Parts: sequence; structure tokens; C-alpha cells
Amino acid sequence: MGKRIMITGGAGFLGSHLCERLLEEGNDVLCVDNFYTSTRRNITHLFDNPNFELLRHDVTFPLYVEVDQIYNMACPASPIHYQRDPVQTTKTIVHGAINMLGLAKRTGATILQASTSEVYGNPEIHPQPESYWGNVNPIGIRSCYDEGKRCAETLFFDYLRQHDMPIKVARIFNTYGPRMLPDDGRVVSNFIVQALGGEDITIYGDGSQTRSFCFVEDLVEGLISLMNSGKQVTGPVNLGNPGEFSISELAEKVVALVGSDSKVVYEPLPADDPMQRKPDISQAKALLGWQPTIPLDDGLPRTVEYFRAIINRTGSPSI
Ligand code: NAD
Ligand code: UDP
Repeated sequence: MGKRIMITGGAGFLGSHLCERLLEEGNDVLCVDNFYTSTRRNITHLFDNPNFELLRHDVTFPLYVEVDQIYNMACPASPIHYQRDPVQTTKTIVHGAINMLGLAKRTGATILQASTSEVYGNPEIHPQPESYWGNVNPIGIRSCYDEGKRCAETLFFDYLRQHDMPIKVARIFNTYGPRMLPDDGRVVSNFIVQALGGEDITIYGDGSQTRSFCFVEDLVEGLISLMNSGKQVTGPVNLGNPGEFSISELAEKVVALVGSDSKVVYEPLPADDPMQRKPDISQAKALLGWQPTIPLDDGLPRTVEYFRAIINRTGSPSI
């Protein structure tokens, strides 16, 4: 029989893929979202499914429902979005974690936190293993997100120690794919939308900073494996694709793929922008038997096709 699964942030980029995938397995899915960084369009195709329910709710307020599993994904993830109202970002992460942990405690649900590679800050160790405590500025413009997510991890492990609850913490590295919004602001969607529109490709800094990009389908499998792992597996577990690329390399790939005549322009590097990121995924391999299967060269064309279809349908979304 299917489980009753709640996904906070379920209308967002990752959340909507998770809803879809968990419905396919025959579960009852409750999507909870306040549409801060998403639209109903990501989930309208699920409305006809009798096992799907949508609740418009802000996780900074308590919620009382009966569920077996909670994926706590609610939080703006793109720097331009989480920096727009940083106080609200910290509230969403910290109050949201407290409210959802309280709900999990009352119902006995297993709860998974969508944490992030941002807990490593600008890392001095490369690649980053889970044992690395990070190098995070506590008072900078990224801190509302980075420190918020670190505090949420603390709350999860204190609930484990104090209440012996089934918790799971996934540290997600940069993930991309269909259903990112054209104005999401993260690098993959920005570059693709710019290339398709024949606009300049905006590289922040000199483009030598690196990221490791995971295709959304792989990431969703990793999250589900972690949620369904034994009680002794709590994480934190890195989930991401270790394939590492400089931002300049990404720009070249996107321009070549789109066949665009866009030129690259260089803009200032935002404060505290990490210079390198690459997950050490040996824990995920050993504990979950999980590793990504879709390299950037396969995932990028699928993402380009998604944005091309949106542009053909709606005109030209400019950033
Ligand atoms: P997203 O912005 O597309 O989705 C976030 C969703 O949360 C949106 O639907 C938004 O409306 C909702 N939301 C925001 N504040 C809320 C609130 N107070 N109450 C209810 N809903 C709220 O981002 P995403 O890429 O899908 O990220 C999902 C989660 O995964 C986030 O917690 C993010 O920190 C984490 N994460 C994502 C990545 C990535 O590369 N995509 C990397 C690391 C961590
Ligand atoms: N970036 C860029 N141009 C853009 C958007 C982002 O050069 O139009 C850079 C950004 O400065 C960072 C990297 O790409 O070094 C990844 O940025 P993103 O916002 O996608 O994620 P994060 O910094 O949170 O990893």
C-alpha cells in the first residue's frame, strides 16, 4: 500500500519532480507550498490524480496533518531569491524546520531535510566530504541561507538526540533540469535562457570558479533512497554529481549546444561566492547504493529542450 507523503516546497523545481515520482509509485502525496518561488504550473498536470492534494501554506506557521513521511524542501534556493528577503529566508528555514519536526514528532513520520552544499561555505577541502565542518561567513549576504541551513541541520540532530526520531539530512549539490523557472537566477537556467534569446552570457567573476551539476532525475532518486533507508542512516549524506566544471566551461557548453551567437560578458563576482564545489559521494554509494547516472552532456540538452519549448509557447522570457 502507498504511504501518505508530505512535500513542503512541493511546487518548486525539485519538489514538483519528487511529487510526480512518488505519485507514480502509488503514494498519496500532499504538496504544501506558498508559491514564494514557484507557480501552480509546475504541478497542474498532477491535479487529475486522485492521490494528489495541494495545500497553500507557509511553513513558518504550524501545520497539523497526518502523514508517514515528510520531505522538507520549502525554501527559496537561488541566491537572488533567498537574498530578496533574507529575514524571511532564515524564518522559512529555521521556523519551517521547527514546525515540520514538531509535526514529525507528533505523527511519528520520518522526516528528510533538504540541506545543501552551502553548509560547506567557501570550502578549504576539495572535494567536500560530510566530515568537513565548512568555512561559512556568518554575517554576509549568503548567510541567511547558509547559516539557516546549518541551524536546521542542528535542529534535526537535536530532535534525533532528544526524541530519537527517524531523521534524514541530504546535502544537495547544484541540481538543474526542466521546471527551473526562466527567471530562477541560477547559472544553468540563466545561461540557457540567455543563449536561446541571443543575449549576452553573464559570467560573474572570471569564470574559473567551479560547480558540480546533478541532473534532477538522479537527485530525486537519491532523496527517495535516503528517505527509505534504515533508521540507522541519518546522514548528513552528500547528494550530487561529482563531475566538476568551471563556470566558463559551462558557458561554452551551453553556447555550443544552443548554436547561439551570444557573447560572454563578465560581471562582478557576488560576495562570498564559493570558488569550488564538488561532492565526495562515497557515503551515498556505500549507504544507499546511489550514484548519479546522467552526465552534464546528457542532462544539458534535455534542459535546453525544456526552455526552448517554453520560449516557443510564451514568446521570449528575458531574465
Ligand atoms: P525552488 O525555489 O524551485 O523551490 C522551493 C519551493 O519552496 C518553492 O515552490 C517555494 O514557493 C516554496 N517555499 C518557499 N518558502 C516557503 C514557505 N515559507 N512556505 C511554503 N513553501 C515555501 O528551489 P529548489 O531548487 O526546488 O530547492 C528545493 C529545496 O532543495 C530547497 O530547500 C533548497 O534549499 C534545496 N536545495 C536545492 C538545490 C538545487 O540545486 N536545486 C541545492 C541545494 C539545496
Ligand atoms: N553565475 C554566473 N552567471 C549567472 C549566474 C551565476 O556566473 O548568470 C555563477 C555564480 O556566481 C556562481 C555559479 O555561477 O559562481 C553558480 O551560481 P548559482 O547561483 O547557480 O548557484 P550557487 O552559487 O548557489 O552554487
